[in-house]
Amino acid sequence: MSKASDLWISFSSTILDTVYPPKCALCRSLSKSNPCIQCIAEMEAADPVFSYWKDGPVDFRATIYRYPGRAGQAVRRLKYNRATSLAPFMAYAIAGAIVDEGLEFDLAAPIPIHWTRLASRGFNQADVLAERLPNRAACLRRSRATRPQAGLSTDERLKNLEGAFEVIRDVEGKRILLIDDVVTSGKTARECAKVLKLRGALEVGVMAFCGDPLD
Ligand SMILES: [Zn+2]
Repeated sequence: MSKASDLWISFSSTILDTVYPPKCALCRSLSKSNPCIQCIAEMEAADPVFSYWKDGPVDFRATIYRYPGRAGQAVRRLKYNRATSLAPFMAYAIAGAIVDEGLEFDLAAPIPIHWTRLASRGFNQADVLAERLPNRAACLRRSRATRPQAGLSTDERLKNLEGAFEVIRDVEGKRILLIDDVVTSGKTARECAKVLKLRGALEVGVMAFCGDPLD
C-alpha cells in the first residue's frame, strides 16, 4: 500500500471518528470497544458453561452466555443487522471459553447456512465466530434451504431439518466441535451430529456463543 493511501485511510478514519464517533453496536453509547464494557458486563454467563446431553448424537454442549439480554442481542445484531464490528469480541469469547473449559477436538466445524442465505447475508455468522480457532474446517454443507426453526412445532422442526446437511470431508474417528452463534432446542446440532456420526465421527460436541439452559 502506498504512503498516500495510508495517509488517506488514517485521515478519513479520523474524520469518520469525528463525524460518526464509534458507538457500541448494542446500546449505542460512545465506546471505543464493541460491545462497550457495560454491555459485556450485562451479558449473563451460562451456568454451567459446559453440560452433557445424555441422549441423542450430541455428546456435549457448551454455551458461554444465556440468550436473553445483551448476548442474544449481539447475536441478532450480527446476523440480521450485519454488525460485524461485534464479531472479534464474540470470536475471542468462544476461543477463550474453549481454552478455559479444556475442550479438546480434532476439527472445529462451523454449522453451515444455505448458500442462498449466505448470498443475502454476505457471511455465515458461525464461520466468523470460529475465526480464532485452531483446526477450523468445513465438515458440512447445507444441502437444502430450510425454514427458520422459530415458530415451528417440534414435529415440523425435525422434518424441516431432515436431510438438510451433508458431510463434505473425512471425519472418520475424529472429534468434531460444532460452532454456532446460538443453541436453543439443539435440533440443528443434533441433525449435524447425526450425519457426522453416520460417517464415523468419534465424538460431536457443540459450542455456541449463547443459548438457553437445558430444561
Ligand atoms: Zn453498550
